[in-house]
This record gives sequence, C-alpha cells and structure tokens, in this order.
Amino acid sequence: MFDLIVKGGTLPDGTVADIGITGDRIAEVGKIEAEAGRVIDASGDLVSPPFVDPHFHLDATQSYGIPRINASGTLLEGIGLWGELKGVMTQDEVVERALTYCDWAASMGLLHIRSHVDTCDDRLLGVEALLDVREKVKDYIDLQLVAFPQDGFYRDPTARENTIRALDMGVDVVGGIPHFERTMADGAASVRELCEIAAERGLMVDMHCDETDDPMSRHIEALAYETQRLGLQGRVAGSHLTSMHSMDSYYVSKLLPLMAEAEVAAIPNPLINIMLQGRHDTFPKRRGLTRVREMLAMGIRVGFGQDCVLDPWYSLGTGDMLDVAFMGLHVAQMSSPDEMRKCFDMVTTDSAAIMGLGDYGLKVGAQASLVVLDAGNPIEAVRLRATRLHVVAKGKLISSTPRSDASLNLPGRDDTVRRRHSAHS
Ligand SMILES: [Zn+2]
Repeated sequence: MFDLIVKGGTLPDGTVADIGITGDRIAEVGKIEAEAGRVIDASGDLVSPPFVDPHFHLDATQSYGIPRINASGTLLEGIGLWGELKGVMTQDEVVERALTYCDWAASMGLLHIRSHVDTCDDRLLGVEALLDVREKVKDYIDLQLVAFPQDGFYRDPTARENTIRALDMGVDVVGGIPHFERTMADGAASVRELCEIAAERGLMVDMHCDETDDPMSRHIEALAYETQRLGLQGRVAGSHLTSMHSMDSYYVSKLLPLMAEAEVAAIPNPLINIMLQGRHDTFPKRRGLTRVREMLAMGIRVGFGQDCVLDPWYSLGTGDMLDVAFMGLHVAQMSSPDEMRKCFDMVTTDSAAIMGLGDYGLKVGAQASLVVLDAGNPIEAVRLRATRLHVVAKGKLISSTPRSDASLNLPGRDDTVRRRHSAHS
C-alpha cells in the first residue's frame, strides 16, 4: 500500500515505469500492482524529476517597473536601478514577491532553486526576507541561498562584513562578483578571500564571474586556481562566464582543462545573457553566451540558470526552466539529438549535481518530487515547453494543469490538435 502511485509514465531515459511513493520518499520504481491512496495516470506522458534552477535572484523578482524600467537594457543600468529599489523596498514586499514567484515555480515543477541574495545592505533586509521565505516554502521548494555582494566585496565599503554576517545568519553558499571590483587585482583578491571563507566554513562557492564582454576578464582562471589550492573540487561554480565568448581561443584551450581539473562547474544564463550582452557592439553583434558545447566536451559540468524574472535586468519570464533550456539550445547551437537531450539534463539532473542535491532523482529512497509533462520525451518537452500536468512535491500533489489541446473546426480534419510528435522517442 503506497500513499501515491504515478502509473505508466515514460521516464527521461525512455523506460516505462510506475513510481510508488510512501510519505515523502520514492519507495518503488517498476511494475507495481499494489494499492495506493491515490493514483495518477501518466501513461503516454513524460515523468521527470523536478526542474532545478541553479541561478536566480529571488530578492529582485517581480519588481519590474519599480521605481522605473531599465531604459538602456544593460547590466550596468540594471545594477544602478536595483540600487534605487533597495533604498525603498520593505522586507514584507520582498517576502510577498518571492512567495508569488515560488507559486509560479511550484506550478512549473521547479522545486529546487539556488537564489543569490544581495548582501550589500547594512540592514540585510533581503537576507532576512529570503531566510523567512526559505522556511515558508520548505514543504514544496528547496531553496539554497548564496551570499552575493552585488556592489563588490571590496568596492562596497561594508560588503565584506555584511557578507560574513549573512553566512553567520544561515545563508548556504558563498558568492562574489570579481569583475565588478575596482581593478582586476581586487577581483582576483576577492576570489581568493571568498574561497578561503568557503573552505573554512565547509561551504560551496558560486560566483558571478566575468559577466562582461571584455575578453580580458579572466577571473574564472583565479577561481579554478583557488578551488584547487583549497581542495574545493566539486563544490565551486562560476556563473555567467560570458567573457569566455569573446576570449582568444588559444587562451581558452588552456583555461578549459584547468576548469575541468579543478572540477569547477559552469552556470550560463541564456535568457538573460542573450538580452544583456553585446549591447556596446554595433555589427556583427556578439551573442555573449559562454562556450557551453566546448565546456561539455571537456567534461565540465554545466547547468542552465533562469537568473531573472520581471526585475531590473529582465522584463519577461515565468519560472519555466524549459524556456531556459529552449533558449540555451538555440544560442549555443545544440541541435543534435544528444545535445537537445542534454539541454533537458541541464535544467534537471546536471543542475541538481551542481547544487549537491544528494536525494534528487527518480530512484528508490530519493525525495518524492516529480513532474508529469504533456510530452513523450525530454526533447519534446523542450520543443513544446510542455504543460506540467501534475507536480508532486515531497510526496504531495501540489499542482495540476489541464492538457491544452486546441479544438479545430476544419472540414475532413480531426476536431482536436495536440502538437505532439513521435520523433526523438
Ligand atoms: Zn545573477
């Protein structure tokens, strides 16, 4: 007797299996004949572990237009605008906006989020707010928080002290922004000190790193070096890494093996970087996404992040990680079947590995969280940005969306259309 059985779904690897759930754990995967308190029929549909977003800003989301919109569309105006917003926002507003986003995420089957939280504020209002939100959503979303000195660990006069305070308050991961420090030397020094802080405390590291079109921004080299020096292999990620797009290829041929050797992961954010990068270019205009296929070929772990939804940097978004995979697939030109399939992994299992989620996945003993998609396989899920028919979080059905078949009124044709296709099955 199970609490819940998800019956007959197709798993991402193509096998068809029932999933039996007891409490908040997966108890059995395979052919199940037993009874259950509740049965979800998933036959013909894809059953996946939940979506994972390894890079988000939950303290800024849903603030689009407050106090004004980003007129130039650049990263730097976004940072300035966020500075204005920080001065006027209240803790209750941040909590409310973040909870609204978590509702959207839950309905999209996005149940693991790594969110940066700005620590350049003497009140640490955003930190207090997101620690509160982490607790409020813990029954359905696992929120991992990164202490992020947005205005520069050294450049902002109290950022260093406030970042350490945020870690003392229970923020999970050490962040940074070396390319925004006053000089390259300060950037490298910030990487060094922040990695030392992480090593002392046994924490992971995730830095905004080289989010610029400047090919000379090479802080990822320092990040890989410090990771190796301090024995942090497998616990460090570099987010964005957009300067790599513009770097000299000879230099990159040295850099990627160093990253692979240090087991530093990469987190590109395709929606946001295709929007923000190359804004100073005329034509040809650079795409600005980091070298995703090249890193994968070197065995570097890569996970796609959402980064922003309705905030000073990005005016769209719904919390749909399939939008992220879809954009990443296009911008990185990952068009072969294996590469398209990999784009699905980069918003599920690969990002879960970057975040160190040990009990993630559709396996016995893992957390009983999954999503049933109106798609036959992972590639079709990306193509359709498929409807989340059911979302199960920690053993409980938390969201359902009706299948969105369209009706057709055409002579001699079927009267409904679903847009599913058997290719890639
Ligand atoms: Zn970010």
